[in-house]
Amino acid sequence: MTPEERERYSRQILFSPIGESGQELLLQSKVAIVGCGALGTFQATALARAGVGTLIIVDRDYVEPSNLQRQWLFDEQDARENMPKAAAAARSISRINASTNVHPHITDLNPTNIEELLAEADLILDATDNFETRFLLNEFAISTNKPWVYGAAVGSYGITMPILPGVSSCLQCIYPESPKTDQPTCETAGVLGSVTATIAAIQSADAIKILSGHQPRLRITTIDVWSGTVRQIDQPNRDENCPACGPDSEFPYLSGENRAPISLCGRDAVQIHERAKPLNLPELKARLEKLAPVRANEFALRFFPAPYEMTIFPDGRAIIKGTIDVGVARSLYAKYIGS
Ligand SMILES: [Zn+2]
Repeated sequence: MTPEERERYSRQILFSPIGESGQELLLQSKVAIVGCGALGTFQATALARAGVGTLIIVDRDYVEPSNLQRQWLFDEQDARENMPKAAAAARSISRINASTNVHPHITDLNPTNIEELLAEADLILDATDNFETRFLLNEFAISTNKPWVYGAAVGSYGITMPILPGVSSCLQCIYPESPKTDQPTCETAGVLGSVTATIAAIQSADAIKILSGHQPRLRITTIDVWSGTVRQIDQPNRDENCPACGPDSEFPYLSGENRAPISLCGRDAVQIHERAKPLNLPELKARLEKLAPVRANEFALRFFPAPYEMTIFPDGRAIIKGTIDVGVARSLYAKYIGS
């Protein structure tokens, strides 16, 4: 450790369970943050400030004004510029801690890229907004023996739990089935920035504890910041026949069997990610601006064929706003981008 680092992290080093040796471990650590919304932005800033050496940030979306109420790393300029969240986070973290190595990935985490994106990570933080990705993370973590920390929040309520493959229960031990899709979401039920920050802070504390060589308490924490309720229970025992972490483990999410090529994305949008064919955005822009207004930056192109709005990414992915009809989304994609 350099004298500057020793000074910068002095208050954390003075905390004796971490000390200088724990700080050294943090500086060498690589953490993947999957999702860069309310949970992920808080985790990223907390870990960058704590001196975690490398952050791998994966997010498919771009900053919008409605994010600013709870997404700590972003500001009005990011929303005005339609910055992808992963790139905006990298820019913001470089001002908080220039020594943090940030690897931003503007993409959807899926079975075909998870190995490439997360192979280097020592630990994974869940900051996603859907169970499909969480089950994928769970299977990847078990198959590679990486610790991860589950976290979710909606309304004023949140839940978190550390998962240590081979030691603790896994997500599938706790939730044998993916919850039904009619769960409340932040788009339908709203969410308070105070609960996402609380859950993300507990996740970050578990991450720092694990990375500095300790085992976190294996419990499930639930919090409701509105009713003022905090509950902690010990994790139930591992399910001996768990399809993910049991002796006959199968990885249907990791193998892509459970993957939907098209997903609903928020309240009024459909994401098409079935076609992993790179697009030339400047070329597409030249073609589309003859048809309807287009706004583009180096990361994405937004196209406004009324009453719809299409955000198109260089990897071929598109988010189509203004419909939840998969057929309409597919035909807009075919019409304007191609098949
Ligand atoms: Zn399990």
